[in-house]
Amino acid sequence: MKFIMYLLLPILFLGCNDTDEIEDVDDTLSKQEIEDLQFLKEEEKLARDVYLYSYDLYGQNIFKNISNSEQSHMNSVAVILEKYGVEDLSLVERGKFSNTDLQSLYVDLTNLASESLEGALIAGATIEDLDINDINSFIGNTRFQDIGDMYALLNCGSRNHLRAYINNLEGIGGFYIPQFLSLDEYNSIINSDNEKCNN
Ligand code: ZN
Ligand code: ZN
Repeated sequence: MKFIMYLLLPILFLGCNDTDEIEDVDDTLSKQEIEDLQFLKEEEKLARDVYLYSYDLYGQNIFKNISNSEQSHMNSVAVILEKYGVEDLSLVERGKFSNTDLQSLYVDLTNLASESLEGALIAGATIEDLDINDINSFIGNTRFQDIGDMYALLNCGSRNHLRAYINNLEGIGGFYIPQFLSLDEYNSIINSDNEKCNN
């Protein structure tokens, strides 16, 4: 018995060591995953801030309701940032972004929204189109279940938002052509029912 224990101990010890090393590696996000999460936090804020801007102009509930949903999307990203110790680069002030691409997108989209209600609905569709397309690639960049689940939840909400904007846009005689999603993916979203996303 003693002989077997001596033989087993080094194996057990090595086994533990290996596991520790694997866990260390597993807990570390890649540079790409960190960039994706930091970008997404501000992208969700872009959506919220543009919809608040449109709500202030037109007082339509669709903008208020979806901006509330974007706030909860921001919160979902913040939970993951906190959990993995990733710095939150987003700025508190409405309409301000640390990412310069998102800052200029905010300017362009609020200019479009200020032209007309139709412009505001097209701005909304544009953001959801962009958001879903970005999140699709973020999903491919992560190996973490909880991060993937968060992405899937946000995409589910975004698909409902896109349907709502297109419905309202078509209701006033407007139309939208996807700028980021493929026409096939866009059509499959628009032609399917609203989903329950718990968000
Ligand atoms: Zn969102
Ligand atoms: Zn959205």
